[in-house]
Amino acid sequence: MSTIKDPKHVVVLGGGIAGAFSAKLLEDHCDVTLIDPKDHLEIPYGQLRSIVQTDFADRTLVLHSDYLKKARHILGFAEKASITEVVTSTGELLPYDFLVIATGSTHKGPSTKVERIQEIQSENKKLKEAKRTLIIGGGPVGVELAGEIAVDFPDKEVVLVHSGARLIDFLGEKASRKAFDWLKKKHVDIRLNEKVNLDGSGSSNRHTTSSGSSIEADCHFLCVGKKVSSSWMESTFLGESLDEKGRLKVDEYLRVDGHSNIFAAGDVTAIKEIKQGFLAAKHAEVVAENVKRLISAPDSKLHAYKPLAKPMGVVSLGRHVAVAQLPFGTILGWIPGLLKSGDLFVGKTRKALGLSQ
Ligand SMILES: Cc1cc2nc3c(=O)[nH]c(=O)nc-3n(C[C@H](O)[C@H](O)[C@H](O)COP(=O)(O)OP(=O)(O)OC[C@H]3O[C@@H](n4cnc5c(N)ncnc54)[C@H](O)[C@@H]3O)c2cc1C
Repeated sequence: MSTIKDPKHVVVLGGGIAGAFSAKLLEDHCDVTLIDPKDHLEIPYGQLRSIVQTDFADRTLVLHSDYLKKARHILGFAEKASITEVVTSTGELLPYDFLVIATGSTHKGPSTKVERIQEIQSENKKLKEAKRTLIIGGGPVGVELAGEIAVDFPDKEVVLVHSGARLIDFLGEKASRKAFDWLKKKHVDIRLNEKVNLDGSGSSNRHTTSSGSSIEADCHFLCVGKKVSSSWMESTFLGESLDEKGRLKVDEYLRVDGHSNIFAAGDVTAIKEIKQGFLAAKHAEVVAENVKRLISAPDSKLHAYKPLAKPMGVVSLGRHVAVAQLPFGTILGWIPGLLKSGDLFVGKTRKALGLSQ
């Protein structure tokens, strides 16, 4: 087995799609340490199917130790960083030659795969026992969850409340309309331009809304965007590279503004494009390539990242149908469904991590 003489130390912060792929792509070329508060990567695309079909969850929850063959994983958070080292919530001090920041969204929830499976099973139980389910948020997550429930539990009532004027509004109007019509046909009660009050003014089964009405539901799912995980950077030297939304400003090579050995990837970046997992994976490829080039020669020409010019996306609607906005147009039906809805890119992601599909 070949070993690298005097390997460079690379610290990767965050074990979501961006961090996991960065660590995987770099582990044969340098000494990689991944810091993540979970013992596993959760493939996000499969999360909602797991709620309606719990045995789907196992393949979507991938232990970091299963796909990382050489890199070390530390269970914890990055709490502080200087231009030479990172301090973790477990008190470890990790010097680095290169730093990759991929902390995406704030993490709340279990840190082990076993506990996460139990959490999914309890969500599934709540759903099965409920006559009426409330989904808060009509972005891709809320719409996909409504689709999963409508197909797998057609007898259940689903109310979807969205604060905007149209569903999945990161895509164009045509995609929104197609998703709306499809869900309506499945008897999902969609309420647009309305907000569920999340200030505790309701009770566990009765939710008040911005229009003054109230919605009774046996269970609810909060599908609104999560906060970016960057507050830990504010008091460090990285604070000055954050934009007003708390995202890290990067140059075209995905280096954090003003730093030649610090990169960022995924949802934590301020790149002007939609925040999606397939793009987080592309960022990781560019970051890993550039770190490798800099390791081989510090004055190497770097690879530039080209942001997605026009929003693109496939939103699944249950097991067979999807609405897709692609460069040539927007389509709904089983053809885009073939792209995503069966396996939700889980096998593809596992394969890219070197695992069985
Ligand atoms: C239910 C759902 C379905 C989705 N479906 C799709 C889809 O079909 N297609 C698509 O392209 N995108 C989809 N997305 C969006 C996609 O998941 C995100 O764009 C993607 O996960 C971003 O990856 P990331 O690695 O940047 O961030 P994240 O996935 O947020 O991962 C960040 C990681 O960093 C960790 N972390 C946070 N703070 C710290 C810290 N201080 N120190 C160390 N670690 C930290 C977190 O615990 C987490 O593990 C979906 C999202 C969800 C929630």
